[in-house]
Amino acid sequence: MTNKSQPTNLVEVKNLSKFFYQRRSVVKAVDDVSFYIPRGETLGLVGESGCGKTTCGRTLLKLYPATSGQIIYDGKDVTGNLSRRELKAFKKSAQVIFQDPYSSLDPRMTIAEIVAEGIDVHFSYSHKQKHDKVTELLAAVGLTEEFANRFAHELSGGQRQRVGIARALAVDPDFIVCDEPISALDVSIQAQIVNLLIRLQKERNLTYLFISHDLSMVKHISDRIGVMYLGSLVELAPSLEMFEKPLHPYTSALLSAIPSADPEHERTRERIRLPGEVPSAMDPPSGCKFRTRCHYAIDLCAAEVPTLDEAKSGHFVACHRWKELAGALGEAI
Ligand code: SF4
Repeated sequence: MTNKSQPTNLVEVKNLSKFFYQRRSVVKAVDDVSFYIPRGETLGLVGESGCGKTTCGRTLLKLYPATSGQIIYDGKDVTGNLSRRELKAFKKSAQVIFQDPYSSLDPRMTIAEIVAEGIDVHFSYSHKQKHDKVTELLAAVGLTEEFANRFAHELSGGQRQRVGIARALAVDPDFIVCDEPISALDVSIQAQIVNLLIRLQKERNLTYLFISHDLSMVKHISDRIGVMYLGSLVELAPSLEMFEKPLHPYTSALLSAIPSADPEHERTRERIRLPGEVPSAMDPPSGCKFRTRCHYAIDLCAAEVPTLDEAKSGHFVACHRWKELAGALGEAI
């Protein structure tokens, strides 16, 4: 899906919502979310379990129909129904790597068959071309040719996730949604997979949406980070700036939970504890959805929904009090 004049942003999401309608209630899993991802860059999307980040990624990939809003992909609106040809081209260009490398690989198929699935759909390769392509893909993710005839249950978690990455790469995509790709893996393996994804991005000019519940995991791979809470994007900023000068109280609390590599800082580090639990997405609080857990909430927070405003160039925040709190939040971590 390549236009003659390529737009800078491969992905643009405008006011995207995905609601799930149940008998008497509505779950607003993704609620009026907007962001863009420039070609070749990574946007990290973080937030606690159930905040809507996975639904956002899946809606963006058209695995769920959007309730409202727009998905612009490579300069083209792909939100509504596409022709079969257009949908096939979109699915080739936009791939996914799933969270769980244990359940996302078919146990009855060999690794070669798993990796070649997309090749069969999108290319007319001879048997030899397909074999060569699978071998090249396995090598690209750090697996030898010997893995081709093995089955998923014979592989470690890290090796399985490498197969998942090879499967996504098999159709020469431009964009990959990495949906918690390392959270099911041992900590010792996580860095290897992140480094592999970074290398592949450079080699193949890939664009990533990297979804994680852990801010520290997205730091090294993301150019920019978006923080979601109860279906809404509450802050979006370049990675370093997000870590050094957060403007939203929720981001500041997430950052305070990250252990410090500096033993002295770790000893004195104070974690910001948020009261209560994340409210139900079926019955979110009025005004700012974070207000029931925010240490800085005032009456205005219950009355008005804060809009996502550009506080500084490229740094967006949805909080009525960001100007007053800016310094305090940076110091708190
Ligand atoms: Fe807290 Fe109010 Fe800002 Fe929401 S709008 S994060 S409740 S201060």
